[in-house]
Amino acid sequence: MPGTEVPSEPRDGRSAGPAPSQEMLRGTPVAGSIAPGLPVYGTAPGARDSAPERAPDGVRAAGSRPRDRAPACGDPERGSPDGGAPDTMGPMTAVSPSEPAAQSPARSRVSRRVAAIAESATLAVDAKAKALKAAGKPVIGFGAGEPDFPTPDYVVEAAVAACRQPAMHRYTPAGGLPVLKEAIVAKTARDSGLALTPAQVLVTNGGKQAVYEAFAAMLDPGDEVLVPAPYWTTYPEAIRLAGGVPVPVVADEESGYLVSVAQLEAARTERTKVLLFVSPSNPTGAVYPPDQVEAIGRWAAETGLWVLTDEIYEHLTYGGATAPSMPVLVPELADRCVVVNGVAKTYAMTGWRVGWIAGPADVVKAATNLQSHATSNVANVSQAAAVAALTGDLSAVDEMRTAFDRRRKTIVSMLREIPGVACPEPQGAFYVYPSVKALLGRPINGRTASSSAEFAEIVLEEAEVAVVPGEAFGTPGYVRMSYALGDDDLAEGVGRLQRLLGSAG
Ligand code: PMP
Repeated sequence: MPGTEVPSEPRDGRSAGPAPSQEMLRGTPVAGSIAPGLPVYGTAPGARDSAPERAPDGVRAAGSRPRDRAPACGDPERGSPDGGAPDTMGPMTAVSPSEPAAQSPARSRVSRRVAAIAESATLAVDAKAKALKAAGKPVIGFGAGEPDFPTPDYVVEAAVAACRQPAMHRYTPAGGLPVLKEAIVAKTARDSGLALTPAQVLVTNGGKQAVYEAFAAMLDPGDEVLVPAPYWTTYPEAIRLAGGVPVPVVADEESGYLVSVAQLEAARTERTKVLLFVSPSNPTGAVYPPDQVEAIGRWAAETGLWVLTDEIYEHLTYGGATAPSMPVLVPELADRCVVVNGVAKTYAMTGWRVGWIAGPADVVKAATNLQSHATSNVANVSQAAAVAALTGDLSAVDEMRTAFDRRRKTIVSMLREIPGVACPEPQGAFYVYPSVKALLGRPINGRTASSSAEFAEIVLEEAEVAVVPGEAFGTPGYVRMSYALGDDDLAEGVGRLQRLLGSAG
């Protein structure tokens, strides 16, 4: 593995302590990890180990014609190119009189690329709600995208045991502990029916880093990515940081927030390289039926697109909905399909920061090289916890799913009682995404919201209820509410909205 540092000897001459569990550091043979009978991932004809996948002039799908560009996502002017705040502080260190002209004050203090990144709106709402709560306000937060349950005991115990192993105090392979990669291979075969080898897996600092590194490994400057909207707020930022251009493809509540092949095809241009796909979805909770997953996957395969499919909510589906893995339904796509996943949502492990990329070996190798310079290995203790989670059964998520399903029904029926709120019933994840368009421009406690962002502000100040405005997800006029909070808080919070908004108009 390139870029790894695994000290074989204690470097400071001290004893390494009791023999570490070498199982943690040992891999098993690659061939033995392919479950028989499963579609084999990333072995389509032409799959190569590390050669570039496409000509530098961009993907040009067979038969596709150059077209006008679809509108790009977000405002290209967003974020001051000069980094926002005026330079009033002066330099941190003395500048020599012979400073080259290139260091003129016109130069940005913060790089334009990074200055253009918006703060994560979901984390910002959550932070504001937590700060108000800490100040003694009885705020009820529907902002956070995390289960309210503690991590299961057996996972915590595995982490405690790992803490005591000196081998876990050291650098380990940048791409992930071999034992965790094996666990991911086995879990993916078990849950999705997709065959992987450990060389097709990169363990990352959460699904977020997986998304960022996957785009960084796939995109060249100017490559377009089709992003079904409403979208999770991080996707466009990760795409832009990687030099790509996010192109939103909007689906509203009429279509259950599901984009169609026709919509995707209409947005495709000669610059389109990747389709982003997520089911169940954050922020809508929408789940694509299997035949639609297959139709979209076939279209991507036929048009020569790559797919990044985010499966982080795979186990959180309700009412008989299922979330099959696209490369399993469309095996011919596997060589151009990158799966993102993680333990955060399934095992209530948001704070442990373990996710992964599974995909063609060349992309995974490139992303691993990137990670080896950016962050190295994910914290070993967290990786050990993830091994316990993935090799254990799914009973903890079964229990959480039952609670989420109960809360989903409660929140949908309570929101539907509010005049002006239109709330489709989500089939997955733990979010509802109601439209509040009918409430805009109408007085709420003597105040008027002209946008969902203002609506969220009024609701926070007047009812002490935190929701995330649709602006964060590319579709103003909606709010996202997470129902991963206790039943009593949920009923109290939506009750406050009913009282506040019941009088609107
Ligand atoms: N993908 C989606 C769709 C998500 O909602 C999230 C978390 N909000 C992630 C990926 C990343 O999760 P984490 O980094 O906590 O593993």
